[in-house]
Amino acid sequence: MAILEVKDVGKRFGGLQALSDVQLSVKENSVHAIIGPNGAGKSTLLNCLVGKLIPDTGSVMFDGQSVLGRSPHEINQMGISRVFQTPEIFGDLSVMENMMIPCFARRDGAFRMHAIEDMMSEKDIVEKAEAMLEDMNMADKREMHAASMSRGDKRRLEIGMCLAQEPRLLLLDEPTAGMARADTNNTIDLLKQISDERDITIAIIEHDMHVVFSLANRITVLAQGTPLVEDNPENIRGNPKVREAYLGE
Ligand code: ADP
Ligand code: MG
Repeated sequence: MAILEVKDVGKRFGGLQALSDVQLSVKENSVHAIIGPNGAGKSTLLNCLVGKLIPDTGSVMFDGQSVLGRSPHEINQMGISRVFQTPEIFGDLSVMENMMIPCFARRDGAFRMHAIEDMMSEKDIVEKAEAMLEDMNMADKREMHAASMSRGDKRRLEIGMCLAQEPRLLLLDEPTAGMARADTNNTIDLLKQISDERDITIAIIEHDMHVVFSLANRITVLAQGTPLVEDNPENIRGNPKVREAYLGE
């Protein structure tokens, strides 16, 4: 069954048709990669899924409900959580304090800052945040200043903060961009673990083929705003149209 169904989506920026006739069907519990050269429209498509942009045409259905016209906050409440291209964490706070914020959001239905003392006095929030840090293998970094962590650890924290909201669909836009190889491999392992252990669907936009082929069981190739092909990784690897889109062969 598809958890996310995109039909006939188009989006224009002035004279530029960034997306046209986009079809995308993401199966529940799959890891679905959306790949394509720079400027193909990948981030634009993702922004249409989370309510940051409204498509000019077409429909976006999540779990049988339309997301169109809903605010990013409402879409998040529906069960879609998004990891940004640059980690969105609170650098001035500790790792533990960062993790408590989405735990509050999950409980109270609103994403806002709280005084540290207030957060620490809420036992259920502290316990959930601790459990999430444990799951993310970050318990030893609990008191660390978030800004001082490596890029890979910041990404790990951010992904954990998304998971604390208990989404059914996790969206990632080039989560390993600008990372060293070791951090990239750590992120791949983390996403594999999340996909194996949790009842969650992952849609990942990715430029790095090593990441794509390590994770995805379904791939959509976007070129110039339109899907070129959707298939399993094996067929995508051997597809001459895909090589042409990437290498200009
Ligand atoms: P990708 O993520 O695949 O690299 P994008 O979705 O970022 O591609 O961009 C697709 C095209 O749309 C590009 O030509 C880009 O310059 C253009 N674009 C993206 N966002 C905007 C915007 N807000 N205003 C105008 N043009 C945009
Ligand atoms: Mg992009």
